[in-house]
Amino acid sequence: MNLVIFGAPGSGKGTQSEFLIEKYGLFHISTGDVLRDHIKRGTEYGKIANEYISKGLLIPDELMVQILAAVLDANKDNAEKGVIFDGFPRTIAQAEALKAVLAERNMEIGAVVGLEVHEDELVERLIKRGKDSGRADDNLETIKQRLEVYHNQTKPLQDYYIAEGKYRAINGQGSIDEIFARIIDAVDNL
Ligand code: ATP
Ligand code: MG
Repeated sequence: MNLVIFGAPGSGKGTQSEFLIEKYGLFHISTGDVLRDHIKRGTEYGKIANEYISKGLLIPDELMVQILAAVLDANKDNAEKGVIFDGFPRTIAQAEALKAVLAERNMEIGAVVGLEVHEDELVERLIKRGKDSGRADDNLETIKQRLEVYHNQTKPLQDYYIAEGKYRAINGQGSIDEIFARIIDAVDNL
C-alpha cells in the first residue's frame, strides 16, 4: 500500500505520517526532511535546495523527481510494505513523474489522504512551530509565500487525484488522535 499524504503547509502531514508508519509499517519519505538533510550535509543538492526553500518556493520539478527516485531506490528493502509520500507530489508535473517512477518499479499510489485545514489555523500552527523548529521558512513572510505557492501550484492536484478516484478528504482540524482516527477509517475502507 502506497499512500500520498496531501495538504497545505502546516496541515499536519508530518505528524500524521508518524502514526501511519507505525500502524501500517510503511516507509516514510518526506521530501522536506530529505531536502533539509541535504542542506545540513552541505551537498550540491542542498545548496540549490536552500535557495528555494528559504524563499518559500518549490524546488524545480526535475531536480525534485531525481532526488525522490534516488531515495526510493536506496530504500527498496525498507519499503516492502509500502511508502508514504509526504510533501510529494506538489505539482501536476510531479504527480505525472511519480506515476511513471512507480510504474517502472511495479508500484502505484493506492490513495491520497488530503488533510483539509482552514487557512487561519494553518498560519497559527506554522508561526507556533517556527518558535521552536528553527526552520528558516517558518516566519510570517515566508509562510505567506508558501501558502500562495500551495494555492497556485499544489492545490490543483486535488482535482487531479479526485479524477483518478484516489482522493480521500480528511477533516484536518481537531485533536491529533481524532484526525488519525478519521484517516484510519478512510484507509481501512480502501
Ligand atoms: P508540513 O508542515 O505539512 O509538513 P511544509 O510545507 O511546512 O509541510 P515541507 O514539506 O517540509 O514543509 O517542505 C518545506 C519546503 O521544501 C517547501 O516549501 C519547498 O521549498 C521544499 N519542498 C518540499 N517538497 C517539495 C516538492 N515536492 N517539490 C518542490 N519543493 C519541495
Ligand atoms: Mg513536513
